[in-house]
Amino acid sequence: MIAERLREWFDSHVAGMRAAVTRDRRVMEVVRVPEPGSPGSGEVLVRPEAVELCGSDFHYFLGDIGTIEDASTLYPRIQGHEASATILEVGADCPPALAPGLRVALWPVSACGRCYACRVGRGNACANISLIGVHVDGALQEQLVVPAAQVFPVGDRDPALTALVEPVSIAVRTVVRGRVASGERVVVFGAGPIGQAVALAATDRGASVLLVDTLASRLQRAGEVGADVLQVGTDDDLAAAAREWAGEDGPEVVVDATGVPVLVQAAVELVAQAGRVVVVGLSGDPAPVRVGDLPLKEIDVLGVSCCGSGEFAEAVDLVGRRSKAASGLVTHEFTLEQAPEAIVYALEHPAEVLKAVVRLDPA
Ligand SMILES: [Zn+2]
Ligand SMILES: [Zn+2]
Repeated sequence: MIAERLREWFDSHVAGMRAAVTRDRRVMEVVRVPEPGSPGSGEVLVRPEAVELCGSDFHYFLGDIGTIEDASTLYPRIQGHEASATILEVGADCPPALAPGLRVALWPVSACGRCYACRVGRGNACANISLIGVHVDGALQEQLVVPAAQVFPVGDRDPALTALVEPVSIAVRTVVRGRVASGERVVVFGAGPIGQAVALAATDRGASVLLVDTLASRLQRAGEVGADVLQVGTDDDLAAAAREWAGEDGPEVVVDATGVPVLVQAAVELVAQAGRVVVVGLSGDPAPVRVGDLPLKEIDVLGVSCCGSGEFAEAVDLVGRRSKAASGLVTHEFTLEQAPEAIVYALEHPAEVLKAVVRLDPA
């Protein structure tokens, strides 16, 4: 009996490694779990160093995932898809460039290779997609085995900056989908981390960007990414103000990084004739758009989910070149023990927290 109790105590306090497990809606706890062991062929064992939290983590934590019907199938799950890690061990048949000690950014996307999206080279929109931290356990734990194809060496960069590669990769995908070109005018709704990352990726391509938000605190931080800003209240005429900025034709590209249905409607109205609307914000709600705007303006309305591997590599480069602007997105730091507190705090303080990072202890 005593031996059994002792073993239980040992397992929960000493053995294994620490992980922040999301057990149920709004329930995350840091516990000990078994270590994953050595990597198999084509895999690497990594030690996460920094994990950032984003809007989709909040959706998962709240059980509010539009695309997964039954929320009870979500848990338990170790979250964390925006991560910096160091390689601990490299399995057989991995690229020779991968070696223990290297710092990498995790590309969370794994695709089936068989569905229509995969067959046309868009595995990031795979019908059977598997994302680290969403469909399989993520980086809020001390060790993790991942396919070698999903780690991108970044050189000697701060882990919190490295973890930003993932959200920035969504922004790279957004400007690629929106075909943002030098000299164009881009209006971005939402100055949260994704909106600001889109502004960074668009200004990097030589576009002019107007970031629109209701929160002054978010817009205050936006200057660094080289965007103009517009703070709006609920009663303001957003379209008129944005048109004044963009000129008579309207902006060539409008990006919605909020998921607020009326803003998708506003984007369709605001965008120039023959322009592009890119929707990256998530929501389960319908957005009313004037149907005639689509044919009469001949606009493209495009969705963005995750990015492809080439865009992830572009994001590694962009974060390196614009490191000062990018690192300004990280506003709060927590430890792994504080991860449950971090997700609740970030969720409940959107005006204050732009990006919260969970830093894990070094090996
Ligand atoms: Zn994210
Ligand atoms: Zn597929």
